[in-house]
Amino acid sequence: MPVRELNRQQTWLLPPTLDELIPDDHPVRFVASVVDSLGQAMWEKLGISLNGEPLGAPAYHPRALLGVWLYGFMTGTRSSRKLEAACRDHIPYLWLTGWQHPDHNTLWRFYKEHRAEMRHLFKLTVRTAVNMDLLDIAVQAVDGTKIQANAARDRTYDVRGLQQLLKRTDMAIRELEEQNEAGDDPSPVHLPEKLRQAQFLRAEVKAAMEQLAEEEGHKRVNLTDGDAKLMKSRQGIVAGYNLEAVVSPLKVTDNKKTGVIITGVEAVQEPEDHDQLIPMLEQSEETTGTLADMTLADAGYHSGANLAVCEQRKQMIAMPESQEHRLKNPYHKDNFSYDANTDSYICPIGQTLEFLEMRCIVNKAVRVYGGLGTVCRQCSAFGICTKNRYRGRELLIGHYDAELHRHREWMATDEAKTLYKRRKELVEPAFGIIKEQMGVRRFLLRGWSNIQAEANTLAIAFNLRTLWSVWISWSLEKRRLLVIKIQESGHKISGALSILHSYSNQILSPVQKTLILVTVCKS
Ligand code: SF4
Repeated sequence: MPVRELNRQQTWLLPPTLDELIPDDHPVRFVASVVDSLGQAMWEKLGISLNGEPLGAPAYHPRALLGVWLYGFMTGTRSSRKLEAACRDHIPYLWLTGWQHPDHNTLWRFYKEHRAEMRHLFKLTVRTAVNMDLLDIAVQAVDGTKIQANAARDRTYDVRGLQQLLKRTDMAIRELEEQNEAGDDPSPVHLPEKLRQAQFLRAEVKAAMEQLAEEEGHKRVNLTDGDAKLMKSRQGIVAGYNLEAVVSPLKVTDNKKTGVIITGVEAVQEPEDHDQLIPMLEQSEETTGTLADMTLADAGYHSGANLAVCEQRKQMIAMPESQEHRLKNPYHKDNFSYDANTDSYICPIGQTLEFLEMRCIVNKAVRVYGGLGTVCRQCSAFGICTKNRYRGRELLIGHYDAELHRHREWMATDEAKTLYKRRKELVEPAFGIIKEQMGVRRFLLRGWSNIQAEANTLAIAFNLRTLWSVWISWSLEKRRLLVIKIQESGHKISGALSILHSYSNQILSPVQKTLILVTVCKS
């Protein structure tokens, strides 16, 4: 087989434009069409002015800078320095910025100033999917995953560790100061590097000790990222955050595209999930504008209080218990029948357990019912039902036992079991894509509020990936409809656009719709 000629100095008679080098279904085109579709109201919500300042050097267009960040997050480039390099080297970025090369300072300043408002853009991606009738909001799954903070685990200390570190640092500072003073050389203008570092460490330790004293319930603090907490992850114990997410699947359509949209996202400091269930359900209801018929959650979210709130919200939830094996015990308290007339329970053998007292267990009040120890001792179930020889079996009935019992009965049905099987296929691939394809093994920023903004931007990028996978299967006409939906979702629609929308399917042809839309957008 002959070898092709290699000529790196090849010139072009008619050089192609950048636009010709980007395929029609390239994700960068989708990002550009989303950014270009944002209305004035959405830009204002993001705190960005499209008009710039009257004086000074011309600034980069916000559409270019926002596009670079979103495309970067989508494709796993999240650092401003790497984005700067990409804007010089990579054709999609060159096309996105119109062959301009914003440096990392410009990119970082833009993100830093507007990242707190990214939640509006996240909501817009969800609302756009809802308005395009892409989402199956009837079902949603919630889960959390631990993501490492931008901090080393071994810089996490408890009070004792901090005290010892402070002692060592003070000693090191004293030694360094003595060495400085012992020499014949005149005192340097600046502090020696080692001494400066030791003093910096002492200030860090003192600040951490103050933080621990102020925060109730927290026993450890990380010196690099004071908000990161030690959490158990698949990589072992890490200093990190718990990324909570609610996802809903795409509707099954002719194009056979599958995927999920994140409808709620939160980076939290608590490693346990159960306190996050209700806030996450509320958030997904707010972003989608609808209460999902069915929520799927793992045992980490299970609690009587959560079930009670779900009942109040009329929200069905398929969620197993963390200690399901206990339910198989034939002498579980669910197998004792309650007699409301006498406020007592009848055990499987027939003994009556009467109300004894109120007791406080782990800060929760429970009603205690008991029978006769002599009866229990002679019972064939003694040793399984109870091992208490004197008091016999005691039933502890908590405030939410009725809700727990109802939910247990429902979870035993085939319907609930079939529904629950869908949980893994919905939420776990979403975390897989975020970690493997978008490269999020650790957060880049430090501090809870910055992490929260990073989580929102990740969720936007994730949703854009899903929407793009659907977008490439659409006709040009339908792609134009997306522009309208984004503008609707951003509450930007002017009077002309409202009219356009209300009559769009009856009077105007697609070409007319697009022409009006372009005119309005330009205005
Ligand atoms: S041990 Fe006591 S409470 Fe339990 S089944 Fe036997 S008699 Fe009933």
